[in-house]
Amino acid sequence: MYSRPIDSIGFVESFDPEVSAMMQRELVRQQDGIELIASENFASPAVIAAMGSILTNKYAEGLPGKRYYGGCQFVDELESLCIQRAKDLFGAEFANVQPHSGAQANMAVELAILQPGDTMMGMSLANGGHLSHGSPANISGKYYNVVSYDVNHETGLIDYDQIRDMAKKCNPKLIIAGASAYPRAIDFSIFADIAHEVGAVFMVDMAHIAGLVAGGAHQSPVPYADIVTTTTHKTLRGPRGGLILGREEFAKKINSAVFPGTQGGPLEHVIAAKAICLKEAAQDSFKDYAHNVVANAKVMAQALLEEGFDLVTGGTDNHLMLADLRPMHITGKELQQRCDENHITLNKNAIPGDPEKPSVTSGVRIGTPAATTRGLGAQEMKQIAKCIAMTARDFEGTKAEVRATVAQICEKYPLYR
Ligand SMILES: *Cc1c(COP(=O)(O)O)cnc(C)c1O
Repeated sequence: MYSRPIDSIGFVESFDPEVSAMMQRELVRQQDGIELIASENFASPAVIAAMGSILTNKYAEGLPGKRYYGGCQFVDELESLCIQRAKDLFGAEFANVQPHSGAQANMAVELAILQPGDTMMGMSLANGGHLSHGSPANISGKYYNVVSYDVNHETGLIDYDQIRDMAKKCNPKLIIAGASAYPRAIDFSIFADIAHEVGAVFMVDMAHIAGLVAGGAHQSPVPYADIVTTTTHKTLRGPRGGLILGREEFAKKINSAVFPGTQGGPLEHVIAAKAICLKEAAQDSFKDYAHNVVANAKVMAQALLEEGFDLVTGGTDNHLMLADLRPMHITGKELQQRCDENHITLNKNAIPGDPEKPSVTSGVRIGTPAATTRGLGAQEMKQIAKCIAMTARDFEGTKAEVRATVAQICEKYPLYR
């Protein structure tokens, strides 16, 4: 996969060797390691090239055909194409492709739907939700009255009955479904029923699963939700950025909440890259990719269970799993650090009801989107699960063998070479 070198680093070198050297070291880190961070991926050379283009020079506040600057005729075409591709790919009535990130997309929706002090519901950060779903540390938790729901701490699963009860008690204006660290399929139709019962607007943040949705490997939230937000750089495999989809009736409010509500000029170079990634995600090969991501996650989960790891919910339906490390007598922080030294990149992650601090944690989150893009399959998933287990059990005694296995896999599946 991606058997083309990324030539921008060499280009930068003649102008700024200092920056170029840092970029080069990061490229080699990506090439020589196994990437298991569930929110990361490898964008195609075309996506990367569009981001590094002259489109960054253009100011285009406003929307296509309604700009506050002259000279927007070509970026108007580009942004309109991107909007159309987003609507077509996900079957949405409306799209805004300007959010600079997933958090910015969520902030805009919250601004569009809520007044300061209004009640909203979202999954708590400690249970797999996202900061922008109402964490006290985020603007959403400071400006709105947030009622957070947890997963069931015994099963690790979303408890829809409990969410319904909470919604009936607090009468939220907005209910958010979607997570950063939930290993199972989310049933958007039940959430939509709950939202309708209490008269709330229903938003799904599909940041993590957008690529699975595009590829038909997870139920789409679009038919059920009033508004859907996403990032474009996770399973969707595009540029770092955000996207809002929804029903036409919300279009006007959301457009003004993005600009001028929460952002200034759009990043037209990133919008060009979003358009490319949306085209890529509409190909049949992307459907295969999405299904392979899920298949790889299932193999990895099974292999980790066989190695003695405990998995939250016992497994996975999507691209990620949460390993509860308590049976292995190691913290998330320690395992992340050891894996880093062995060129396996993953992140510490709280498990539901985690007794450890968020900076330590009892778990790690493991995802397959990036490794699957690179071409790794079932055999490598088993090898990697074994490497993680060896790293957890006997780091010093096994590191030579683990590093050799990692190097051999990276050699077999070259990236940007
Ligand atoms: C990653 C993520 C975001 C935030 O995306 P950024 O681009 O980092 O701002 C929002 N919501 C969820 C559920 C996420 O996983």
